[in-house]
Amino acid sequence: MSASVAVPAEVARGERRVALVPAAVVKLAARGIEVAVEAGAGRGSYFADDDYAQAGAALVASTAELWAQAEVVVKVRPPLPTEIELSHPGQLLVGFMEPARDLGRVARLRDGGVTALAMELLPRVTRAQSMDALTSQASVAGYRAALMAASGLARFFPMLTTPAGTIRPARVLVLGAGVAGLQAIATSRRLGAVVEAYDVRPAAKEQVESLGAKFVSLGVDASASGGYARELTADEHELERKLIADHVAASDAVITTAAIPGRRAPLLVSAAMVEAMKPGAVLVDLAAEGGGNCELTSPGETVEHGGVTIFGPLDLPSLLAVNASETYARNISDFLGLLIHDGELSPAWDDEIVAASVLTRDGRIVHEATRAAVEAAGGPPGGGPPDADSGARDADNGARDVQTGTRGQEAPE
Ligand code: NAD
Repeated sequence: MSASVAVPAEVARGERRVALVPAAVVKLAARGIEVAVEAGAGRGSYFADDDYAQAGAALVASTAELWAQAEVVVKVRPPLPTEIELSHPGQLLVGFMEPARDLGRVARLRDGGVTALAMELLPRVTRAQSMDALTSQASVAGYRAALMAASGLARFFPMLTTPAGTIRPARVLVLGAGVAGLQAIATSRRLGAVVEAYDVRPAAKEQVESLGAKFVSLGVDASASGGYARELTADEHELERKLIADHVAASDAVITTAAIPGRRAPLLVSAAMVEAMKPGAVLVDLAAEGGGNCELTSPGETVEHGGVTIFGPLDLPSLLAVNASETYARNISDFLGLLIHDGELSPAWDDEIVAASVLTRDGRIVHEATRAAVEAAGGPPGGGPPDADSGARDADNGARDVQTGTRGQEAPE
């Protein structure tokens, strides 16, 4: 019997992406996999039902029927309680799970006997590169953040020499030069801005400079395992804020992307620093979902403070839904290659990539940091969801997706 994979329409408010696009369906069908797609699932990202049908997918009008018949359900956003109710024990659910955001959701997945495989838990190893959804979505977010800064600024990004005078290029500062930050640097450079970037990992220096930007260094090595950064000590943090202050004040646009796995986003830009910025300057805070890198950020909103506009976007990948869905679909279909062999569902549970991704399975929370957080929050080991979010922050342990824009408000049930 062929493995059956289902693609529901995303139900989170404002979410426009879809987990598989027609081109990915073609590839999966060629691998002997039956794909069912909920009618209208691709509407937000402009993929028509007809294109899915031509690609070989079965279109299903009923959400309940879609979930009932699938061995594997693939999604972008974490499941809502109503979706978990539609799942059945033993069913595989693949997508972003945001375990640290909602421990109650993890407990519901456990209690429903769902095998939840979290895309944000995949290790950042070379072999998993084509499955790395954090990277694909962070690239989209970084690009879009630069455009947001450029369009929000009442000045040109490039230098212009005109008969009416020479316009100086805008000065852009990027705080945090990971995947999103590097894409924001590259995009700002392409638009002609003069760019500086700061990170606490010395390894970022070469990447920043290769994009034609200047690296701002604290002289501290805060590299941690897996290429991530560690949290700074109080003294280092104080030094950091002093170092950044002058650069922030001199910039026309600041794009912040700094994140620490499993922790609140570091606070890099204080209200006083914003007050020292030029009137008309902009700050785009890509860390808004993780609490923000700027003290004045209001997640999901745009605020103005002393003539400075502060954007706290939560939905950037959805604003580029076509390419965000295409790249996510590639991540998902390559990951499915580790779960389905010769058209049959037979996950390689011992594979390091699959093993790392397992959040819940067989009525248990498999991801250790999340299990500890659920137990600490008062959730019994086998039943009853604890309060959402309580004690959740430390549970992520590499499962963060601060700048991927995969979070946001969920639709009311
Ligand atoms: P991230 O989202 O965890 O953090 C974004 C950036 O914020 C990081 O560069 C981090 O160093 C920086 N940061 C943290 N605290 C800071 C502070 N106080 N001030 C300034 N910057 C701060 O990171 P990410 O974008 O997911 O990338 C993490 C790492 O993973 C990078 O080293 C990247 O090269 C690596 N990576 C590897 C692969 C692979 O090999 N397959 C794929 C993607 C990313």
